Amino acid sequence: MAKAAQRGNVLAMTPEEFRTHAHAFVDWMADYLATLEARPVRAQTAPGEILGQLPGRAPEAGEPIEAIFKDFQNIILPGITHWQHPNFFAYFSANASPPSVLAEMLTATLAAQCMLWETSPAANELETRTLTWLRELIGLPPAFTGCIQDSASTATLCALIAARERARPGAARTGLSGGPPLMVYTSEEAHSSVDKAVRIAGLGADNLRLVPADESFAMRVDALQAAIAADRAAGRLPCAVVATLGTTGVGGMDRLAEIGPVCERENVFLHVDAAWAGSAFVVPGTRGALEGVGIADSFVFNPHKWLLTQFDCSAHYMQKPEELAGALSVTPAYLQSEGGAAMPEYRDMSIALGRRFRALKLWFVLRSYGAEGLRTHIRNHIAWTEDLAETVRQTPGFELVTPPSFGLLTFRAVREAMSAEELDRLNERLLARINEDGRLYLTKTMVRGRTVLRFAIGGTYTTQAHVRRAWEVIQELAKNLHKA
Ligand SMILES: *Cc1c(COP(=O)(O)O)cnc(C)c1O
Repeated sequence: MAKAAQRGNVLAMTPEEFRTHAHAFVDWMADYLATLEARPVRAQTAPGEILGQLPGRAPEAGEPIEAIFKDFQNIILPGITHWQHPNFFAYFSANASPPSVLAEMLTATLAAQCMLWETSPAANELETRTLTWLRELIGLPPAFTGCIQDSASTATLCALIAARERARPGAARTGLSGGPPLMVYTSEEAHSSVDKAVRIAGLGADNLRLVPADESFAMRVDALQAAIAADRAAGRLPCAVVATLGTTGVGGMDRLAEIGPVCERENVFLHVDAAWAGSAFVVPGTRGALEGVGIADSFVFNPHKWLLTQFDCSAHYMQKPEELAGALSVTPAYLQSEGGAAMPEYRDMSIALGRRFRALKLWFVLRSYGAEGLRTHIRNHIAWTEDLAETVRQTPGFELVTPPSFGLLTFRAVREAMSAEELDRLNERLLARINEDGRLYLTKTMVRGRTVLRFAIGGTYTTQAHVRRAWEVIQELAKNLHKA
């Protein structure tokens, strides 16, 4: 760093130094992807193990990149769960892909703040164009226009802010005190982000109604109607319904074609959370659940889950983006800009002011794979999940608990003469064994009150051979489970 100080900028790294380090990192990145399979999928470290290796104080003197990179490899990597590992079948996938990573390198280098059209016109206009492409790719009606959010959680929060504003015009300025409580409805299978969003939007978690689901894990529309009627009778004001396409537990689909007309009749805002399942709609044959989506006010899905574009990239579509902008637009003098009138100002549809250039990686992915590549990606996963379901059905000692929903199924180990509680514990043990083994990573959920294992296929690097081998590993690890 002494050398740098002499140049008059203590932070300067010469372009040549940067080039050398960057080349070394890219070599490491390619090697990492090539050897990913040799690592345990889930980090096998104990709590505090990484923390204990990190000095209590930030260094006083600057250190060379080589030393930091060495510690990245020795200290940090062992504590990483490898989400791009082909045997990652936990949660939902968080796809990255080489074109997406390459684009993120450019985004990181430009390090542009893309809050206003003026602060990077290309970012603004590319966001508009890629979201139109994406809308057409998944078969969403043209009445929707989009905005890239960091996450589905943020999109759902934005949807509830727009709904709040519609139910109580001016609430963004006046606050919510005084009037009747604004009620939000979602199914008991919905994602926790809905609960969080009602808290942040100031609506109150007590005003969220968890509507029961039916045997197919879809929201019961009769129960929704009853809940709305009961709230109206009690003087509360129904404000929004959040429907889910592809619930996180088992992939249930709410019936938009039935929920939409209820919302229309009741003058209630309808937001659709298709965070995971939305990517599947690039395949035209999967779009049954989209029937009726034209009534929805907003719709969100995450290319960062299953469409090869890494976090963060959540596509948030709205019929009337001006409703959200009306609630969120705050323009001090230092934010007055040139493009505003002609181009959408995405900061007015965002919680944070600062915005990353997220459209670039989406553009790289959409162009690099083409619509056909994306369809193949999804089609494969759906076909492999069907194939796995058939195998599970035929494997003694296991039961398929819920059938495939796109790339997700649930199963459990079963033994004769075991109580429901004993079976829960058996499956907890199986899951722990699988995840400690390191060759695979799975997570669990509850189905009708019982513990089951989820198997979610969606990885960029997963092949059908990985899925088949995973099932063999699970069978191997399920042996002698009662003795554990
Ligand atoms: C994953 C998921 C979310 C949360 O997505 P983030 O982008 O992490 O906020 C919300 N809803 C459903 C149905 C999901 O599967």
